Amino acid sequence: MKEILLLKLGEIVLKGLNRGTFEKRLMKNIAWRIRDLGEFKIYCMQSTIYVEPQGECDMSYVEERISRVFGIVSICRAAECEKNMDAIFLTATEFLKDKLESAKTFKVDAKRADKSFPKKSPEICMEIGGKLHDLYPHLSVDVKNPELLIKVEVRDRAAFVHANPRPGAGGMPVGANGRAALLLSGGIDSPVAGYMIAKRGVSLMGIHFFSYPYTSERAKQKVIELAEKVSAYTGKMYVAMVPFTKIQEEIRDKCDEDLFTLIMRRFMMRIAEKIAIKNDCKALITGESLGQVASQTMEALGVTASMCTLPVLRPVIGMDKEEIVVISRKIDTFETSILPYEDCCTVFTPKHPKTKPRLCDLEAAETALDIDALVEEAIVNTEFVEI
Ligand code: ATP
Ligand code: MG
Repeated sequence: MKEILLLKLGEIVLKGLNRGTFEKRLMKNIAWRIRDLGEFKIYCMQSTIYVEPQGECDMSYVEERISRVFGIVSICRAAECEKNMDAIFLTATEFLKDKLESAKTFKVDAKRADKSFPKKSPEICMEIGGKLHDLYPHLSVDVKNPELLIKVEVRDRAAFVHANPRPGAGGMPVGANGRAALLLSGGIDSPVAGYMIAKRGVSLMGIHFFSYPYTSERAKQKVIELAEKVSAYTGKMYVAMVPFTKIQEEIRDKCDEDLFTLIMRRFMMRIAEKIAIKNDCKALITGESLGQVASQTMEALGVTASMCTLPVLRPVIGMDKEEIVVISRKIDTFETSILPYEDCCTVFTPKHPKTKPRLCDLEAAETALDIDALVEEAIVNTEFVEI
């Protein structure tokens, strides 16, 4: 019996003239993600991507990897057979044996994409459903909510039988909508923010600010681990590691303590934007959520990014912490995020941070600093880590 994966596409099918480009990108992403699991023929026909193993491989691993590729709404692990009713029935009994034995209710759904096939969809359902019922009399038919939903697809290339498809990751193929730079801290929010934007078809690079020796080598490792987890969805990415100690010390020594966090965050945005532009990114992404902390009031967000020319995407802006945590658990970053290593944001934090800052006060305070030189020095000393 020949096993194959049939991948059903999401929003791509609405893409009109660009559709071919999206499909190609998606196939490339799939190939990259399963490259070490065996040899595969990957092609697109009739709005479905076929992943056909060319030899031995563990299909469960392949399915697992593909479940994190954006652009796919469902993954059907199918058995292929000849386009005749006997072969379809036999394949269903062999391929779905365990499921047919353990389920209590079932239903057969048929789709005849090859209109030259002599039986129409309802006839296929009736005949295959009837014969399966005869063979497994313990099963009863449930058309509304069957435990086992068997699908028969008669396509141009062959017939396919599968049951209970697995949901895909949704969204659009990474890279189809360009590239953006994610400001990645060690916290819960920023990996989730990166995941959400990547889901819209955007490839990512990470930017992390660290303040050695105030923050440890272990804190940096934690960020790399988070980037690795996000890259299960995005594919290969780089993280720029920006040394931030000198800037933080300068701000501490020369500016009003109440403004420390905001001035620091303005430096982050300046540096991130420069690195982003150099690396062909069209936007910045942060994990800011409205009102979560003093530096995330509307006034604070306004001054933080006032110098940015790139759009600043804040996908978790309207989400509660609880909602963000649900996603971080789903994408498996939560346990890493809560490891207790310090972030540069928690170094020198003011006792009374301003929640309603005015841009003019920040600009006045920043005249004490040589902004361009500090930014330049940080960028020159930035190291890139490949994930
Ligand atoms: P997170 O949970 O992602 O750390 P947070 O709730 O701790 O977010 P802040 O520390 O105020 O919030 O940071 C807000 C956003 O600023 C982060 O989501 C991230 O995008 C960015 N950021 C904060 N610290 C850093 C850092 N050290 N390096 C890169 N980006 C950072
Ligand atoms: Mg943080």
